[in-house]
Amino acid sequence: MSDKTYLNWPFLDGRHRELEQSLDDWASGHISQQHEADVDAACRALVRELGAAGWLRHAVGGTAFGGVGEAIDTRAICLIRETLARHSGLADFAFAMQGLGSGAITLYGSEAQKRSYLPRVAAGEAIAAFALSEPNAGSDVASMQCAAVQEGDSYVLNGEKTWISNGGIADFYVVFARTGEAPGARGISAFVVDADAPGLEIAERIEVIAPHPLARLRFADCRVPASSRLGAAGEGFKVAMATLDIFRTSVAAAALGFARRALDEALRRAGTRSMFGQVLADFQLTQAKLAQMATGIDASALLTYRAAWQRDQGQRVTREAAMAKMTATETAQQVIDAAVQMFGGLGVVSEQPVERLYREIRALRIYEGATEVQQLIIAREMLRDPGAARAAA
Ligand SMILES: Cc1cc2nc3c(=O)[nH]c(=O)nc-3n(C[C@H](O)[C@H](O)[C@H](O)COP(=O)(O)OP(=O)(O)OC[C@H]3O[C@@H](n4cnc5c(N)ncnc54)[C@H](O)[C@@H]3O)c2cc1C
Repeated sequence: MSDKTYLNWPFLDGRHRELEQSLDDWASGHISQQHEADVDAACRALVRELGAAGWLRHAVGGTAFGGVGEAIDTRAICLIRETLARHSGLADFAFAMQGLGSGAITLYGSEAQKRSYLPRVAAGEAIAAFALSEPNAGSDVASMQCAAVQEGDSYVLNGEKTWISNGGIADFYVVFARTGEAPGARGISAFVVDADAPGLEIAERIEVIAPHPLARLRFADCRVPASSRLGAAGEGFKVAMATLDIFRTSVAAAALGFARRALDEALRRAGTRSMFGQVLADFQLTQAKLAQMATGIDASALLTYRAAWQRDQGQRVTREAAMAKMTATETAQQVIDAAVQMFGGLGVVSEQPVERLYREIRALRIYEGATEVQQLIIAREMLRDPGAARAAA
């Protein structure tokens, strides 16, 4: 059982503590770390269950559109991701993608777009996806090539998107494409594209070490109504970054959930594994590892909930979200590796909880901005305004 004293930190309110407790109880009864072989079916089922139980209402903003509140509560989505990640990586993934895939609609959608998509996302009746990356535009996303050309009342999309989570099972994709108002980041627009739009196809299914639905998409003369554009023409980069500013902090929270689960598993194992006439936990070398793991987890949690709280106060969090994401994902990798080591041979047996965590954590250091990108963001923010950085520190 994880140490939950962090729930009393001043970043969180009573409603957050209640949310964590009720979700933890629900997850204990409804989801397990073991998943069926068919990851698409498992994912669809998780979205339905999370929707039916009301958890996905936290992933969208606007009570008129199925949301719990008018804005997305960053601390709530962090607590949900952390709790789900402790129980099951796929459950966390299913929740996170409903939020990331519809976040741009919550933030920039018209009334009609919100009505058409958000209630179904919140109910778990429509699966969402976020299509930003391309084969030649990952970290350097502003160099994207996928193009949308306006023709009368339509836009015609041509190009590719890759690494698209929920690719193949999504009901709609929020797609970023070059519309050419200006070079680079200022010439991109965002669109909501239904999965059955003619000209949109799944070009390739991608298998990764922690299986979840993932695909490369191809757009070949894919015509969408001009009304499917999200936000103003040329503002797509801003739309993407604002969406990521919310969800980047929640990636940190997911890493935290994985790390907490690894520490729980390590404590259990170290307390029971006999060797050399005592148990593994009796050795000071083990205690040093456990101390390092627990301290890293608390440091990650402090950065994560600071960023989430700060965003919920309406403040800019580019620097804080980057610090949280970098620290929590890198720390979780170390914590999980230490747990695998304590399990010895058992730690690398397929589907053991720590083996699964070892695979689950890896991609979090890469997606939504690799660690190196977070480092550059943090440094850029400091160098742009060194006085503000000192005051905030
Ligand atoms: C499991 C998974 C799910 C994903 N889901 C989605 C999704 O749903 N939607 C979506 O749009 N994208 C998604 N992505 C894509 C993800 O955001 C990209 O993989 C990521 O942005 C990195 O891009 P890239 O893979 O092209 O790597 P590259 O851009 O080629 O970068 C490779 C490496 O270079 C290093 N690097 C990058 N920039 C610098 C720098 N400035 N200085 C030094 N080193 C640097 C980093 O270590 C980085 O990992 C997903 C990726 C994965 C693995």
